[in-house]
Amino acid sequence: MSPDFFTWPEIQALLARSLPQRQALQRLYARLPTTRCRRRAHCCALLPEASLVEVLAALAAIQEFPSERRLDLLKKAIRYFLVNPLEITSCPFLAGADCLIYADRFFGCRAYGLWSPEEYERRAGANRQAKSQMREQWLRLGVRLPTAVFDFQVPYCRKVEPDGAGPEADRELIAAEEAIEKIADYLGPEADRFRNLYFSDLSFLLAGLLLGVPEALRLKFTLVQEGLRTGSRKRLDETLLGLELPDAAQV
Ligand code: SF4
Repeated sequence: MSPDFFTWPEIQALLARSLPQRQALQRLYARLPTTRCRRRAHCCALLPEASLVEVLAALAAIQEFPSERRLDLLKKAIRYFLVNPLEITSCPFLAGADCLIYADRFFGCRAYGLWSPEEYERRAGANRQAKSQMREQWLRLGVRLPTAVFDFQVPYCRKVEPDGAGPEADRELIAAEEAIEKIADYLGPEADRFRNLYFSDLSFLLAGLLLGVPEALRLKFTLVQEGLRTGSRKRLDETLLGLELPDAAQV
């Protein structure tokens, strides 16, 4: 039996029925410690992992964009998915020094700079471990990915000025993270489908919706192989240029 990947109509239905959960998410965000970061965007080198409710909040924000801007953004997200084993391209929501979905940015963005250095390092270690498993999977397919990209971590930021950091803040943040997962679980089994099938990766979800998951994975494998062999992104850029949004994607 093939995995239960999402379709656009399912995502649209989720958007329509997730308003209470998205509102609960915003209430929770409002209780997070605030920072005096001036949106320098240094931390936006990677798209953070997110729960389904966070992803739906981002998609609802994208819905409000004019269609051309939305198409550009969706293409950026697909490009991010296709080439992230090859290069650090920065988060697709980053435009200059601004976040396009700032009011709906993910928990990972909000918590950055609030963790203690020790907790941040603990999380970075877990992330390195997950990435090395992924690198092994690529190796089994005969593809050796560049170490510099796979070892890349957004460095700990000492410039964010938190209101109330330290171990207390770590505990609050961990509790908030767990609460967000619980809010996502109110959406039903779809929350686990997103975690388990898409690894909490919005760029994979969008690439799968727009290209079809088998085609998105096939294209990623081909383009990564070609990129490593030739150093060229020509085929990728041509693919993205020719990409048209299916009607259903006009959310
Ligand atoms: S969603 Fe916005 S704040 Fe978060 S990493 Fe992307 S650009 Fe930065």
